[in-house]
Amino acid sequence: MKNKAIIGVLPQLNSKEKKIWVSPAYMNGIIEAGGLPVLLPFLKDKKDIKTLAKQFDGFLFTGGQDVNPSLYGQPLCNCSNEISPKRDQLEEDLFNAILKENKPVLGICRGMQLINVVLGGTLKQDILGVKKIGMTLQHDQKTPFNIPVHDINILKESLLYQILGQDKILVNSMHHQGIGKLAEGLLSVATSVDDLVEAVQIKDLDFGLAVQWHPELLWRLDTNAHKLFTALVKAAEK
Ligand code: MN
Repeated sequence: MKNKAIIGVLPQLNSKEKKIWVSPAYMNGIIEAGGLPVLLPFLKDKKDIKTLAKQFDGFLFTGGQDVNPSLYGQPLCNCSNEISPKRDQLEEDLFNAILKENKPVLGICRGMQLINVVLGGTLKQDILGVKKIGMTLQHDQKTPFNIPVHDINILKESLLYQILGQDKILVNSMHHQGIGKLAEGLLSVATSVDDLVEAVQIKDLDFGLAVQWHPELLWRLDTNAHKLFTALVKAAEK
């Protein structure tokens, strides 16, 4: 029998208590999909980070802190949630190493925003506050997180469409930031009706997908969310 794919999961950071942690929902999403998730350490050494990119079969970039806007040339807005330069650095170095190895990637929420910034794009720092002009949907849902709240339209010529087989699905939404300028290395493959990028495909990877919603909180009820984890694990098994 084939070995299970080992998926490196980017650690979340509790900076107040100086602890790393991860929501079990990400780990269980991968386990249910037939993969073996492993929580990665906070490494600084770029050689060690390259070794991770070589040795693991695939990677999951998790949700969490805001990306430091200095990385995309903007001042910190007072709307900002916590930032973590240490986490930004690890993820930037690891993502660049993954690109060289062409390993499968799934990014979720912050994961998608971080990938856009690393590849040269920008973020809208505050889609809920004063700069929410044009936003008509509630992107910070008040209802339980395992219940989808808004539609997205999916591009037919895309990996996401290949995985889901639908051009419109319902997703949950818990973000106060969104993609501004899309990086050239990304293709927008899903948008909301108020025109936010809700999913991207990473052009230089055979399997590189990132989403603005939270499939890890949906997969028990929602087959589309389960399919995303399964697609990552299958791509990583090759
Ligand atoms: Mn949304």
